[in-house]
Amino acid sequence: MATATKLSPFDEVNLVYDRAAERLGLPDGVREMLRRSWRELQVQVPVRMDDGRIEVYTGYRIQHNGARGPYKGGVRYHLQADLEEIRALASLMTWKTALMDLPYGGAKGGVQVDPNQLSMAELNRLTRRYTLNIEHLLAPNRDIPAPDMGTNAQTMAWMMDAYGQLHGHSPAIVTGKPVELGGSLGREAATGRGVAYLLSATAKDLNLDPKDSRIVVQGFGNVGSWTCRLVSDQGFKVIAASGVRGGVYNANGLDVQALRDYQTISRTVVGFPGGEAITNAELLELECDVLIPAAIDNVITGANAPKVKAKIILEAANHPITPEADDILEDRGIPVLPDILVNAGGVIVSYFEWTQNLQEFRWEEERVNQELHKIIMRAYDEVRERASSQRITYREAAFEIGVQRVAHAVELRGFV
Ligand code: GLU
Repeated sequence: MATATKLSPFDEVNLVYDRAAERLGLPDGVREMLRRSWRELQVQVPVRMDDGRIEVYTGYRIQHNGARGPYKGGVRYHLQADLEEIRALASLMTWKTALMDLPYGGAKGGVQVDPNQLSMAELNRLTRRYTLNIEHLLAPNRDIPAPDMGTNAQTMAWMMDAYGQLHGHSPAIVTGKPVELGGSLGREAATGRGVAYLLSATAKDLNLDPKDSRIVVQGFGNVGSWTCRLVSDQGFKVIAASGVRGGVYNANGLDVQALRDYQTISRTVVGFPGGEAITNAELLELECDVLIPAAIDNVITGANAPKVKAKIILEAANHPITPEADDILEDRGIPVLPDILVNAGGVIVSYFEWTQNLQEFRWEEERVNQELHKIIMRAYDEVRERASSQRITYREAAFEIGVQRVAHAVELRGFV
């Protein structure tokens, strides 16, 4: 599809949503309700910097849909975290939680900031101010934030503490917390673990023997690095991986543990001695079996989609493929397992964390991983079944399942 004017990320997600709504025959009013966000809050986030200056950032919390339960979704600290980006990510959360059949709606938050430029003390103050400014939208039965790009367990500890100063100790207000403060065992690895489970299933379907496989992973943050580690533990061969500044390639397979150690010390994968240097653009075009974009959005576009050589793509990042690229990949017969399926491990274990907090109980990690496997594999089977019976793409099938569940909840509630 040729897109003359550049679509916003929210428009791009809605192209897929509209197709699903159309095929499901949703009435116009419901269709419009589910397309738009329910509530959008933009706040000023002034921060006293270490040198005494005041820097003023912009923050958001967008609640896309709450028909199936409390709003759920991460908080992103990134320079591109603007209104349209957060809207897109909030709606993806609605379809993701519905596809996983979790009792949640969808939301996303963010602050437009480069967290690498701030000290720990500045990040702590920024997180507290942001939390206080959106606090009236939050509650364990209303809206539960979690980590996303640029945020982590420490950020969640600060959010919980800031919220607790007003409302008393409330661990269920955020998920992805440090384990010492009520976080769930297995939460940090959960998104990567979900990707690894799906890779195993996909490999069986493709008759791909893990030891002969060539896996390429873009992104070496929480999701990318855990994915590399867990898939190599399963015997798959990761031949290339990259971070923001570039990557490394080794046709015989990277030593993933050594790469993780190198990254911990150097804060980059660039310069890792166990492989050759490669750019992020080159990495996406490598000859490989499975390509796993696990970094930012819009990395596979109309320009590079014709050059992708993978047999299948697993979207570990949110929205890494533009609609134009999606069409090109479909024409070329390269299947794509979509973000709302592939990266759902994080929110699934967030759900377990929240239930553990509400019950004031802790699960063993083994139980967390088993239940994660059950939920993500059930969704995978449902998506595959629908895609093959309806002759549609995995993305179309995943959206249809999610949209149908949310539309049904709206109808059952009878609030309009
Ligand atoms: N930020 C993650 C996502 O995009 C996790 C959200 C959550 O755990 O609520 O799915």
